[in-house]
Amino acid sequence: MQGELKIQETTQRKPKPDTANLSFGVYMTDHMFTMDYKKGEGWHDAKIVPYGPIPMDPAAKVFHYGQTIFEGMKAYMGEDGDIRLFRPEKNFERFNRSCRRMSIPEIDESFVLQALKELIKLDRSWVPSAPGTSLYIRPFAIATENHLGANPSLSYKMMIILSPVGAYYAEGLNPVRIHVETRDVRAVAGGVGEAKTAGNYAASMQAQENAYGAGYSQVLWLDGVHRKYVEEVGSMNVFFRIGDRIVTPSLSGSILNGITRDSSIQMLRDFGFEVEERPVTIDELSAFAEDGTLLEAFGTGTAAVVSPIGEIGWNGKTFKIGGGETGEWTRRLYDELTALQRGDIEDRFGWTEVICSAETTQG
Ligand SMILES: *Cc1c(COP(=O)(O)O)cnc(C)c1O
Repeated sequence: MQGELKIQETTQRKPKPDTANLSFGVYMTDHMFTMDYKKGEGWHDAKIVPYGPIPMDPAAKVFHYGQTIFEGMKAYMGEDGDIRLFRPEKNFERFNRSCRRMSIPEIDESFVLQALKELIKLDRSWVPSAPGTSLYIRPFAIATENHLGANPSLSYKMMIILSPVGAYYAEGLNPVRIHVETRDVRAVAGGVGEAKTAGNYAASMQAQENAYGAGYSQVLWLDGVHRKYVEEVGSMNVFFRIGDRIVTPSLSGSILNGITRDSSIQMLRDFGFEVEERPVTIDELSAFAEDGTLLEAFGTGTAAVVSPIGEIGWNGKTFKIGGGETGEWTRRLYDELTALQRGDIEDRFGWTEVICSAETTQG
């Protein structure tokens, strides 16, 4: 449907940033992937071109009705110098699930994954290798029809941009304080919480800013109906160790189905730990914190991989988890999952794929 992938290489490579100060999402690589959709024609004009701005009409529907979705994934370079992707087919499956929810036409997953591999090969010299660093990959789709009618756009643009990102934890795993949000909600079942769509993030910024202002670094979201079931932490899935088992909220329709969540569940079970997916209330967490059985808590997501939680603030009370230190199981999961993603340990799950071998990465 989209025909052949065309590649137009830049004649002017940009200088690389200092890998010690990459931060997150600041620098973009030399190239990007773009593909267009028109009703009747389907997806077409797939190409890799030099990175740069795109012309947009002010009446484009994405600006008015938020018909847009995105993904977030990473490429890693480990000790062996190979560049690997981590379960990328899962991201493109989810891309299409998000598309369906937002009335955006689906993409050909294997064609776009192949195009992504070509894009990374072309920009392979941008993949950082220092511990904790990676190449962040941002596929997205936007409604481009110039028409103010609130109905599905007749045209779309799908793009992939790449950004080298720094270590999330510059000074080692650092437990964060999180604030239980009791006024705003992130999502409700039947809404768009399961889709990676822009509005979810815009709608969460107010609570996030309030939490920052009160000295917390993330929001713990409760469900939108009962306001008692724990759903996510910031834009991460959330896990709790209660005694000798791990619990994580079951996918309720308003929780984003994280690939790091799924990988963590499988890896923790492989360690021999018991993992339960079930509804978790904030009241039970508070009670478990009080009786000393809430031993560890952490968030999971592509950006941080695993983010330990040291303290929860709820309705004016605070409770510390594991004395505010990173828990033993949390650290083990972080260490093994990040080592596996980088190819530093054997991949017993078959989750990684080498897309550029070390001999070809010096380009
Ligand atoms: C992307 C995202 C996650 C994490 O998903 P991963 O696939 O693990 O990166 C969790 N919650 C929200 C709201 C997200 O947008």
